[in-house]
Amino acid sequence: MLDIQKVRADFPILDQKVNGKPLVYFDNAATSQKPQQVIDAISKYYSEINANIHRGVHTLSQLATDAYEASRKTLQNHINARHAHEVLFTAGTTHGINLVANGFSQFVKEGDEVMVSAMEHHSNIVPWQMLCERTGARLTVIPMNDRGELIMEEFEKLLSERTKIVAVNHISNSLGTINPIKHIIDKAHSVGAAVLIDGAQAAPHLKPDVQALDCDFYAISGHKACGPTGTGILYGKEEWLNKLPPYQGGGEMIKEVTFAKTTYADLPHKFEAGTPNIAGGIVLGTAIDYLNAIGFENIAAYEQELLEYGVQKLSEIEGIEFVGTAAKKAPVISFNIKGIHPYDIGAIVDKMGIAVRTGNHCTQPVMDRFEIPGTVRASFAFYNTKEEIDALAEAVKKAQRMLS
Ligand SMILES: *Cc1c(COP(=O)(O)O)cnc(C)c1O
Repeated sequence: MLDIQKVRADFPILDQKVNGKPLVYFDNAATSQKPQQVIDAISKYYSEINANIHRGVHTLSQLATDAYEASRKTLQNHINARHAHEVLFTAGTTHGINLVANGFSQFVKEGDEVMVSAMEHHSNIVPWQMLCERTGARLTVIPMNDRGELIMEEFEKLLSERTKIVAVNHISNSLGTINPIKHIIDKAHSVGAAVLIDGAQAAPHLKPDVQALDCDFYAISGHKACGPTGTGILYGKEEWLNKLPPYQGGGEMIKEVTFAKTTYADLPHKFEAGTPNIAGGIVLGTAIDYLNAIGFENIAAYEQELLEYGVQKLSEIEGIEFVGTAAKKAPVISFNIKGIHPYDIGAIVDKMGIAVRTGNHCTQPVMDRFEIPGTVRASFAFYNTKEEIDALAEAVKKAQRMLS
């Protein structure tokens, strides 16, 4: 069980007033808030061991290197990767996807296909379109139904020997849908396609097991899972990471450099050119430790309670239309109020201290699919409460009265 008062005490920002009202933070799918443990770890790194990693023989450099590699181990254990060197530190999900899409130029040619789904974040569309432009491959798209669920029969029809990679999100950021990724991975593998999972929205809510999933790549952002901005990991199967070319050239990623030829470093360093976000990488481990101490079962159970309560509470509002009503959902509620632009709702509830997201949430094709300009999105975290949901429902009703 989750002790909500104790959890909330870990997040100093939640004590704030915004526009004179207690902050209600429901934009967790954009970025999560940070617990004191994470804030302190950043300060501790810069106060006590700041030095460049992997380079110096001096003590601080070794302490920083050890902490960085210990964090890689934490992440390895967290996602159950076979090897620590299958975990690459990145700046986030966008970086991880681009690393793979860029390298796939070597494995994709004209006439091949690259598959995404109808509910991808722009980060998991554009890099693949760029790959298609470079290579002459074709982008195919798994469609979804009116509830915002991927249509598996259509996916299987689209899949063929021409499909070289399938890139889908584990959880949709704008609809909340939890996708049947194990099924997608197995089917894709049966035609020889690789699979990249965009885990940006999964990381805050669940503990992925990359060996059980058998995915080839799994990308995560730290900042949506209580970690610092500009952090993340890309998991890649060893065989794939050995085959993929480096993404960026520079220091740290080489074995030997002469003007005639350069040989690349072993994994994971081959993909980690330059001085990384050392503090961020270390503190991402702190954030994952924090979440694991609370327990992902506890987080999931509580968040499902919030989701059910939120849907029930908001359903009482006349003219509300939910966008994304999949059977399996993360705690994300996207909605519109008949006759009112989502932006206007967002602006009014902000005056009452409530932070929600409005717009297309970097998923313009999802909005096109539902023929709407955008949605209001309330996305919950384990530190939110039912009382905050009551406040949202009241604020939306008030906005509706003001605007109609
Ligand atoms: C946020 C998000 C991304 C992009 O993550 P960044 O941290 O901005 O790199 C990609 N996919 C999904 C589903 C997201 O929610």
